[in-house]
Amino acid sequence: MTPGPPYRLTCPKCGGHKLVASIASGNTFGGILWSDSKHDYPMLPQPSFVQHCPVCGHYYFYNDGDPKDTGEESFSFDFGNLSFEQANDAFDELYNSKLEEGNKMQLLFLWLYKYNDKYGGREGENCPERCPESIAERRAAIVDTLLDSQADNVLLCAELHREIGEFDKCIELATPLADGEDFSAEVARKFIEHAKMEDSKVFQLY
Ligand SMILES: [Zn+2]
Repeated sequence: MTPGPPYRLTCPKCGGHKLVASIASGNTFGGILWSDSKHDYPMLPQPSFVQHCPVCGHYYFYNDGDPKDTGEESFSFDFGNLSFEQANDAFDELYNSKLEEGNKMQLLFLWLYKYNDKYGGREGENCPERCPESIAERRAAIVDTLLDSQADNVLLCAELHREIGEFDKCIELATPLADGEDFSAEVARKFIEHAKMEDSKVFQLY
């Protein structure tokens, strides 16, 4: 991986600046795909889709920060990644029904992935047993929205049902997809296997 020049973002709320890392070249070597569809590419890090302004504390979409190549040779590895708590605050601030569909989906997945980092098993032994009630309620609403909007993606829906403990529904959706040698059939069989163990944690697919 070759680092690139930092990009300067301008907060659309206050005009404050921040620098975010970029990479000049990278590759997908060592990539991990998780059951909830999150990809981790250690050699191809990308700036966070939502950025936190260090000046005013608001959140904004990366593209709304008007990213400009500084051309500087100082390298940074700060991609503006958010913690779960920050992603939750960003969701409060940015999510609304008028958002453009692509941004809406990205925010929903950002929230879900960060939830799964902290509470859904991605951090293994470090994951607390349960989350606060308000977070559990938000998760239920977000999963419902994703099940509605991603109904055509049956494998994802099977996984979402598994994550919320609806194991029978997961098995029902995944079973018709589980025959064959292609990757999606292999994934379907893994979902069924974990559902049968009543395991609701996310796990690595590869
Ligand atoms: Zn700001």
